[in-house]
Amino acid sequence: MRIESGLKLGFKDVMIRPKRSTLKSRSQVSLERTFKFLHNSYEWTGIPIMAANMDTVGTFEMAKALASKQLFTAIHKHYTIEQWSSFIASIPPSYIPHIAVSTGTSEKDNEKLRLIFSIHPQLKFICIDVANGYSQHFVDFVKNARAQFPDKVIIAGNVVTGEMVEELILSGADIVKVGIGPGSVCTTRVKTGVGYPQLSAIIECADAAHGLGGHIISDGGCATPGDVAKAFGAGADFVMLGGMLSGHHESGGELIERNGEKFKQFYGMSSATAMEKHVGGVAEYRASEGKTVEIPLKGHVADTLQDILGGIRSTCTYVGAPRLKELSKRTTFICVSEQENRVYS
Ligand code: 5GP
Repeated sequence: MRIESGLKLGFKDVMIRPKRSTLKSRSQVSLERTFKFLHNSYEWTGIPIMAANMDTVGTFEMAKALASKQLFTAIHKHYTIEQWSSFIASIPPSYIPHIAVSTGTSEKDNEKLRLIFSIHPQLKFICIDVANGYSQHFVDFVKNARAQFPDKVIIAGNVVTGEMVEELILSGADIVKVGIGPGSVCTTRVKTGVGYPQLSAIIECADAAHGLGGHIISDGGCATPGDVAKAFGAGADFVMLGGMLSGHHESGGELIERNGEKFKQFYGMSSATAMEKHVGGVAEYRASEGKTVEIPLKGHVADTLQDILGGIRSTCTYVGAPRLKELSKRTTFICVSEQENRVYS
């Protein structure tokens, strides 16, 4: 046993210090970014915020709403080939760069992935997602995917430490997804004791990835637009959202009506609800590592997006960053023991 004693930080432990700025208005701030990826010549331009590949969030409806505003969706892996085909037929080509096909790491997952890309070769992004990105089987799957799909952008995760980010990038990932345990419907930290405070994970993993020419996604733990701004400030290239995009008309999950009020179901992908839906129950050797909750219906996601993007533009004006790209360079975090005033919450 060993103890690492340096304190690791989450979003709730810091605030961003304001700085003198010449920006007159948040309308002067551009949230667009252009990225070139390590393992191919593809260049991507858009607003680097993503819907999570959960079946309650990363839906085709969400993808349409987000792509229309240049945001990104990692489409969940449970759609059929036929559903993919009718979706692709229903969207303009300009939406294609804003979606990823998600996959697990089984033989069957790989076959489905090959089939989707053979029918829709214009799709560009693969999101290889497992709860625990530390297994050799996962690394081998990433290597294999790189060999099979040399011209695709590969997202792989999740991990939380620099050495594993490096291993994944050297194995063929262009973008590494970072986050173990911070998610709003995640119970991994409770069930296993394993995790890493998200802000420190971003800072350390971004440093490792950028050193090799790779990128990272901060995945999980953002509960407010301020958290999204902190994730970018810490060095995340992309920020992935689950809970903040759940509960909308465009989200998945059952719509529930009770006493005249409407709710949408939202659950973790390792929750008992998800396992019952997709694999016929929780296997005997494992515990569920996700919650199931009901979210009061939030309306259309476009309004939430405006709130999030408006918040980040405002962060940029507070620190004098005319473009999102400059936010991290201009960020000084201060460690705090308070956040918002909750008198009227
Ligand atoms: P949120 O934005 O809701 O805080 O976090 C979303 C992220 O939580 C997802 O992208 C995924 O990485 C993670 N997640 C989703 N479902 C589960 C689950 O059932 N268990 C765990 N441990 N993490 C989950």
